[in-house]
Amino acid sequence: MELLTIDSVRTAVTGGTKTAVAFAEEHFARIVAEDGPAGPDSPDAKGINSYLTLSRERALAQAAKVDAAVAAGETLGPLAGVPIGIKDVLTMVGSAATAGSRILEGYRPPYDATAVAKLEAAGAVLLGKLNCDEFAMGSSNENSAYGLVRNPRALDRVPGGSSGGSAAAVAADFAVATLGTDTGGSIRQPAAFCGVVGVLPTYGRVSRYGLIAFASSLDRVGPFTRTVKDAATMLEVLAGKDERDATSSDKAVGSYVSDLEKPVAGLRVGVPAEYFGEGLDSEIRAAIERVLDGLRALGCVVQPVSLPHTKYAVPTYYVIATAEASSNLSRFDGVRFGLRAEEANTLSAMYRRTRDAGFGPEVKRRILLGTYALSAGYYDAYYKKAQQVRTLLTRDFLTAFEQVDVIVSPVTPTPAFKLGEKTDDPVKMYLEDIYSVAASLAGICGVSVPCGNTKDGLPIGVQIMGKHFDEGTMLRVAAVVEDLEF
Ligand code: GLN
Repeated sequence: MELLTIDSVRTAVTGGTKTAVAFAEEHFARIVAEDGPAGPDSPDAKGINSYLTLSRERALAQAAKVDAAVAAGETLGPLAGVPIGIKDVLTMVGSAATAGSRILEGYRPPYDATAVAKLEAAGAVLLGKLNCDEFAMGSSNENSAYGLVRNPRALDRVPGGSSGGSAAAVAADFAVATLGTDTGGSIRQPAAFCGVVGVLPTYGRVSRYGLIAFASSLDRVGPFTRTVKDAATMLEVLAGKDERDATSSDKAVGSYVSDLEKPVAGLRVGVPAEYFGEGLDSEIRAAIERVLDGLRALGCVVQPVSLPHTKYAVPTYYVIATAEASSNLSRFDGVRFGLRAEEANTLSAMYRRTRDAGFGPEVKRRILLGTYALSAGYYDAYYKKAQQVRTLLTRDFLTAFEQVDVIVSPVTPTPAFKLGEKTDDPVKMYLEDIYSVAASLAGICGVSVPCGNTKDGLPIGVQIMGKHFDEGTMLRVAAVVEDLEF
């Protein structure tokens, strides 16, 4: 059966062949029957466990509104009637927001994230909140306080992280599109592992208002979809200046959907040798080679580029991201949000016990690392040094983009790994991010597009990175890659 796309749902809803309410009900029925729960720490349990909560009331009210607008002959938004899921690090009125953490248990945000509000204003039907690694820290979705998420393409494997629920829901037919966030790969990597499209917009392209912060200089909101055209549609809705996020850009939003029609012949495609070293799975390497052959056949000029500081990207990311996290997470103190430890007689005991009970082990590890990197006496050696290297990594890309229009690389060194395979070794887990974190540090845009499967049937993704605010060219290349035969 052909999976639904934004295009096909919108056409059916606006053409009156099927109602938005019917689409929503079908999705809820499938989620209830097949999604879970996997249950915390229960690798034997069935179910994908992608949704943490369903927002049935809000979804059905919105769907009915869309159907009424169709009946009244009104003009409908670009996402009219499209069932969409939201990563649980974004706020949505009427739903709990946990960020995958116990410390936010019981917190109900009083406002919508700008990205959430924009989707709904465009007609989307928001089905619920999606599982993720705690505070978006992880590469496997095994760090959620509400149970792991399974990869719909191979149930004994991870869906990737931290937006594992968002990628899995699109792959498992539990939503037509979803929102995720990407700080160091959390959209691109799970998209690659689950065989869907995932976009990292340029830093500043999409508002972060209403996003529960992990590392504010790196956090980005972006879509998961089944097709590149759907991703372009989502990005057009999401992008733009927001008075409530001072880092959002007022640069004009591109016509990403119509840009897809432009030819790719003559575009220059850079291939960085640093992204094809040892450690890269041979089937992934071969798949990327086939993508490059396909682009050559379409008239693209494929040429080497150099990103010489790439080997410093992972350590630089894990200093900056943890430093920012240690600061951002200080607000969870038992006073203002969610969980509060009982049986504490002093304020500082209450802080300590709340944070001890509320945060999981990976979050605690990062708070410790980040606090250390920022402490007097170590600041220059770690945080300041990392900021300097971040500048060098950014310059690498700016220089490369003087010679090419896009850069093509793997998204991940391996296909989706087994549940439990890397949980004992945090450094091994961090090295998963080797091809994704440099683009995060540089602020450029990137997309993961499916490009075939391994012999075992596991999805492979290719990463296409674009210049700051040049999502149009990046998606144009992604669209032809999606159409290649693998
Ligand atoms: N895997 C990376 C980390 O654990 C990236 C996470 C993300 O992008 N949110 O920090």
